[in-house]
Amino acid sequence: LRRNPGEPEFHQAVTEVFESLGPVMARRPEYVEAGVLERLCEPERQIIFRVPWVDDAGRVQINRGFRVQYNSALGPYKGGLRFHPSVNIGIIKFLGFEQIFKNSLTGMPIGGGKGGSDFDPHGKSDAEVMRFCQSFMTELANHIGEYTDVPAGDIGVGGREIGYLFGQYRRVTNSYESGVLTGKGLTWGGSRARTEATGYGAVIFANEMLKTKGKSFDGAKVTVSGSGNVAIYAVEKAQQFGATVQAFSDSSGYIVDEAGVDLALLREVKEVQRGRIADYAAQRPSARVVTGGSIWDLPTDIALPCATQNELTGADAATLIKNGVWAVSEGANMPSTPEAVSAFREAGVLFGPGKAANAGGVATSALEMQQNASRDSWTFDHTVTRLTDIMVGIHETCLAAADTYGKPGDYVFGANVAGFTKVADAMIAQGII
Ligand code: NDP
Repeated sequence: LRRNPGEPEFHQAVTEVFESLGPVMARRPEYVEAGVLERLCEPERQIIFRVPWVDDAGRVQINRGFRVQYNSALGPYKGGLRFHPSVNIGIIKFLGFEQIFKNSLTGMPIGGGKGGSDFDPHGKSDAEVMRFCQSFMTELANHIGEYTDVPAGDIGVGGREIGYLFGQYRRVTNSYESGVLTGKGLTWGGSRARTEATGYGAVIFANEMLKTKGKSFDGAKVTVSGSGNVAIYAVEKAQQFGATVQAFSDSSGYIVDEAGVDLALLREVKEVQRGRIADYAAQRPSARVVTGGSIWDLPTDIALPCATQNELTGADAATLIKNGVWAVSEGANMPSTPEAVSAFREAGVLFGPGKAANAGGVATSALEMQQNASRDSWTFDHTVTRLTDIMVGIHETCLAAADTYGKPGDYVFGANVAGFTKVADAMIAQGII
């Protein structure tokens, strides 16, 4: 706490993992002797830099850029870039810390990292976004590479931003190093199903949890928060599994669509028009906008929080439990507050923590790296099959670790323990570094 003041999200993420590790440390004293926990509290490298750019009115703008290269015991640093005004070093450290264990759980050879900027892409022109991305990459290019650190998208960073970033990387390095970024366009090294992967994966993980209780998405009522990349494809996969998705949101409020979400319209509004949820409601008679209150007030069978950290509070969890929720699968990173997580675990609600449930995105990024390394391009179906196998595997890994260390059925505990032990073993094998 003293070393990292003013970083509440980082403290929250570390506490949440370390609270699970008591039974592991008791059984594995070598982790204590090797100072694994202390080392995990300190990123291997943190880079903070100025990002100057010129807006359309000719004014100079200054943002702050970050890249936290957190842990590379398992492979090159891997994790997204977030462009949002709330970004600061504590947010990036929390995300980088989570990423270590998430990436470990995927079974792929990738370490943990995260980056971004306090730049707000909302309301900026394409040209402004491009100039910002070019300035950001001019510095970041010094620190990343296929064998070093491989960024991807996150909040505010989608296909458009990855394109501008990749273009500038090529320009300043004079190389076509496809594997330096993931989330690329399909004609220039991107992987099919990467766009869909995080949302699909969160639903596939939820489906695996539901199977353990003899339940399924078929005929279920689903609520999804957010309306960005993760949310849209969580909606799609839930609908493919036979569910009715009744609501989604953004930072202005939420939409209830009595007829079930019209996915084609949602994609048109968000991906083509870059509009807001109100633009969806304006084109959909069965939908109404709700401002004020919480999307989690809606009675729902399955809750998929896919917006941002700490969006689902203890009070929200109490309402969901009262209304009989069966399962919660976190598409976003740390969307449930600690109070909410405790409430779900105590009530016996199936609860998939983000580091397991949303790992499908980074896993598919690792599949993109594989395709880049072999100069290959897989079909959509093959890639989704690989993604599905990985998500089923993560679900099994969590349950097995929870069993082994004495908390059967506890996915939070299982994900933390399984993610941690693999990284800790690699850190010990590689010496005190
Ligand atoms: P997008 O930028 O595509 O979408 C983010 C969505 O969340 C938007 O609808 C946005 O609404 C909403 N949102 C953001 N901040 C807030 C807030 N403070 N309150 C309410 N709503 C908010 O991002 P992604 O879909 O890519 O990411 C969503 C979450 O999933 C994040 O937690 C991210 O870290 C996590 N994640 C993403 C992965 C990926 O592959 N993209 C992989 C793994 C995790 P608005 O437009 O109003 O801001």
